[in-house]
Amino acid sequence: MSDPWELSASRRAFLGLAAGGAALAAAGAPAQAQRVRTSARIVILGAGAGGTSIANRLAARLDGAEITIIDGRQQHWYQPGFTLIAAGLKPASYSVSQTGAWLPDGVNWVQDYAAEIDPDANRVTTTGGQRFDYDYLIVATGLTLDWDAIEGFSLDMVGQNGISAHYAGPDYAELSWRALDRFTDEGGVGLFGRPATEMKCAGAPLKITMIAEDIATRKGTRADTRIVYNANNQLLFGVPIVHHRVRQIFDERGIEVRDSHVLKAVDAERKVAVYETPDGDVESDYDFINVIPPQRAPQVVRESGLSWADRWTDQGWIEVDRETLRHLRYDNIFGIGDINGVPKGKTAASVKWHQPVVEDHLVSEIQGREGTARFSGYTSCPMITRIGRAMLIEFDYNDNLVPSFPGVIAPLEELWISWLMKEIALKPTYNAMLRGLA
Ligand SMILES: Cc1cc2nc3c(=O)[nH]c(=O)nc-3n(C[C@H](O)[C@H](O)[C@H](O)COP(=O)(O)OP(=O)(O)OC[C@H]3O[C@@H](n4cnc5c(N)ncnc54)[C@H](O)[C@@H]3O)c2cc1C
Repeated sequence: MSDPWELSASRRAFLGLAAGGAALAAAGAPAQAQRVRTSARIVILGAGAGGTSIANRLAARLDGAEITIIDGRQQHWYQPGFTLIAAGLKPASYSVSQTGAWLPDGVNWVQDYAAEIDPDANRVTTTGGQRFDYDYLIVATGLTLDWDAIEGFSLDMVGQNGISAHYAGPDYAELSWRALDRFTDEGGVGLFGRPATEMKCAGAPLKITMIAEDIATRKGTRADTRIVYNANNQLLFGVPIVHHRVRQIFDERGIEVRDSHVLKAVDAERKVAVYETPDGDVESDYDFINVIPPQRAPQVVRESGLSWADRWTDQGWIEVDRETLRHLRYDNIFGIGDINGVPKGKTAASVKWHQPVVEDHLVSEIQGREGTARFSGYTSCPMITRIGRAMLIEFDYNDNLVPSFPGVIAPLEELWISWLMKEIALKPTYNAMLRGLA
C-alpha cells in the first residue's frame, strides 16, 4: 500500500514545479507583489486573529489555490479590548464583529469546528462530518480556557458576588466590570492572579490588578481596599527586567504579592478561594476575585499527534520550529498564534509577526525554493498601569527589550503615549492585520 505521506509529498513537489513556471513567467515583478499560480489545497483551522490574517495574505498572494478556513464561531472577538471592557471604559460591543466580514472573497469558510486532524492522511474532519484533504495545513485554533479546572467555579457566576472573569468573552468582560465597579465602591479584599500554564497575554492579569487599584484610588476607597496579586511562581512577569519594574510599581502602590499561589477552587457562597502553594492548600477570603483559568490547546489538537511529546505535556502546544513556525515532524503543517509551542508569543502582536513567516515559507515552497523569514519571538504587551498610563513593553525570545520607537517611547516608563497605543492605535492596527495589510 502506498504511504499517504509520500503521495502528498510528491503532489506538493508537483505543485512546486507548476508554481515555479508561473513565477518565472512573472519574473521582473517585485517579489512582494508577485502572485503565484498554484492549485494547492490549503486548510486553515480557526478564523481568529491568526487564521483570518493568513487567509487574507494567502488569498492576495496565491492564484488558483483552494483555501478553506474552518471555524464555527460567527463572532470575531478583538480580545485585547476585553481589558478595557472589564475596566468600564468600553461596552462589550467594542470587541465584537462578524467573522464573515473579515474573510476574503474566494476563501471557503466552513462554519463548523475541526473534530479530527489526521496529519498522516493530510485530512481534517469537522464536527458535522465533512472531510477536507489538504496539501498544507495551518493550525490557528488559539487556545482553550479550562474553566472546569477551577473547582466550584462556573461562568454563570460572573458578575455576581464579586466574581469576575474577563478572559471569557466580551459579555463576561462587561459583567466583570459590574463586579469590579461594586468592589471599588465598597472596598474589601480583591484577589488577582494567573494560572500556572502558559497563557495568552501574560500581562493582562497584571493590568487588571493595577486598574482595580487605580479605580479604588480615584473613588477614594483605596484605604478600605486590599489588593492581592497571586503569582504562579516567583516572578510577576517572565522577562526579568519587566518583573522588577512591575514589582517596583506594586510596592509603591501597596499591591500585595503572594508568590507560588495558584487558584484551585472558588466557594462562591462563602466567598473563599483556595490556592495551591508549595506548603499545601491555602484558603483566602475575598470580596472580589478575578478568575483566569489554566490554558491549553483545544482537545482536537491535543489528540492530533501534533503536540510536543516532552514539553508542555499537560497543555498540548504544537511542535513547531520556533523560528519558522513549521511543524518539526510534518513539514506541510504550520502554526500561527497561541497554539504554537514556542517559548514566547501568545499575543495578537506576535501573530502580526507569525503570519509573514508562515506566508514566506509556504509560498516559497510552492515556488520550489526555501523560505528565509524567521520569527524572533516578538511579543508585545501594552501594560496598562493606570487609566491613562501604560508601559509599551516589547521583547523577544532572548528577553531583550525591542522597542518599536527607541528614543521616543521608553518601554519601562508609564506614559500617556503608550496608553494611547493601547486605547486608540491597537484596534485599527489589529484590524489592518486581519485584512492582511499589517
Ligand atoms: C483579556 C485579554 C487581553 C489581551 N490583550 C492583548 C494585548 O493587549 N495585546 C496583544 O497583542 N494580545 C492580547 N491578547 C491576546 C490575543 O488576543 C491573542 O494572543 C490572539 O487573539 C491569538 O490569536 P489566535 O488566532 O491564535 O487565536 P484567537 O484569536 O483566539 O482565534 C482562535 C480561533 O480558533 C477557533 N477555533 C477553536 N477551536 C477550533 C476548532 N476545533 N476548529 C476550528 N476553529 C477553532 C476559535 O473559534 C477562534 O475563532 C489578549 C487576550 C485576552 C484574553
